[in-house]
Amino acid sequence: MTIKLFDGKQVILGVTGSIACYKAVDLASKLTQAGAEVDVILTEAAGRFVNPITFQSVTGRDVYGDMWDMREHVGHVRLGESADLLVIAPSTAHTIAKMAQGLADNLLTVTALAARCPVVIAPAMDGGMYDHPATQANIATLKSRDVTFAGPAAGRMASGLVGPGRLLEPAELVGHTRLALGRNGSLSGRKVVVTAGPTREALDPVRFLSNRSTGKQGLALAQAAIDAGGNVTLITGPVEGPIPVGADHISVTTAVEMRGAVLESLAGADALLMAAAVSDFRPAIVAEHKIKKKAEETDGMAISLERNPDILLAVKEHKERSGFPRLTVGFAAETKSVLEHGRGKLLRKGLDLIAINDVSADDAGFAVDTNRIVVLKASGEPDHWPLLAKSAVADRLIEVVAEAMAKNETQDG
Ligand code: C5P
Repeated sequence: MTIKLFDGKQVILGVTGSIACYKAVDLASKLTQAGAEVDVILTEAAGRFVNPITFQSVTGRDVYGDMWDMREHVGHVRLGESADLLVIAPSTAHTIAKMAQGLADNLLTVTALAARCPVVIAPAMDGGMYDHPATQANIATLKSRDVTFAGPAAGRMASGLVGPGRLLEPAELVGHTRLALGRNGSLSGRKVVVTAGPTREALDPVRFLSNRSTGKQGLALAQAAIDAGGNVTLITGPVEGPIPVGADHISVTTAVEMRGAVLESLAGADALLMAAAVSDFRPAIVAEHKIKKKAEETDGMAISLERNPDILLAVKEHKERSGFPRLTVGFAAETKSVLEHGRGKLLRKGLDLIAINDVSADDAGFAVDTNRIVVLKASGEPDHWPLLAKSAVADRLIEVVAEAMAKNETQDG
């Protein structure tokens, strides 16, 4: 799947001598599939674990190793100077130590010195090397120079020891590269609150009322906001799918909990994207014990419901008092009179913008990977978007939000 952020970007993947090198092949493949041009530099030790041809096959590009083999003029600095991102995964304690010292004894460390782009290091090392004060001091030095560290994870290592030292999984490493690559984007320095997924309203300890939302669109929005450099607070009900790397995640269950989390997150928020499918009703009584199925008592049994609070109405009041969030985006899942209902919600809930989707279609709305929305602003004509991947809807919507923020500022200023 291509990712807009990687389009036309040159990523250097430095691979050093750790048994976790095999995971770097998958990372190279994932970055390439995302649309990046991936130039792999192997250290001599890494070349003993994995043959350069393996990397060449997944990236479709030359793989670099020995500095002395480079034939082009100043080729040893060209790579570092032209890169958009340098990722070193896995990185041994040795390479970390050399970088902290500014040593440049192989192509990877020369490139690291020549590079002016963001640098992400994913450590992998065994046997307590990560905890060693020398490694920790080197990591602190590199962090003070704005190098980002991704992991390591704790768990079982090749030696059988259990502790911190495992390379993060490739999918998570892709998340870290997105975070680093996007940090100067159109939402850089902006606080964005995103809600996603359904809420669940308990009937008894084992049953609940909910809806078909999986959170896919909200999670994609959070990822798109991170790709654009935003500081994202992501508030979710029970969602399917991973939480984007870099999001400040708050997990809730009920609508009342979600309202609390949203209102607490609004201080200083530039935008709220309220993509969650909040349950409008909850059972008036939550049984303390599981409701039993005794026929004579439960035949024709009714559940009495009460209204949940409308979170966006509470947000509207919050904004009137405090000025935050600066921009509110709502979502509407409709099955009929789509535009009319959407416009009504926009006005009633005090929104700057609403994304309306017709959930009666098979290829849009809940649980599928595509969506077809109509974007309606407080003023202006509705904008009908074509059927798009939810990730593409998210990227476009974040562009619209970033533009609206910039426009508001010019007007205020
Ligand atoms: O009124 P309706 O539920 O259709 O409005 C949808 C929009 O309102 C969504 O953005 C949803 O997240 C939000 N909402 C809310 N509080 C509720 C129900 C929905 O903020 N109780």
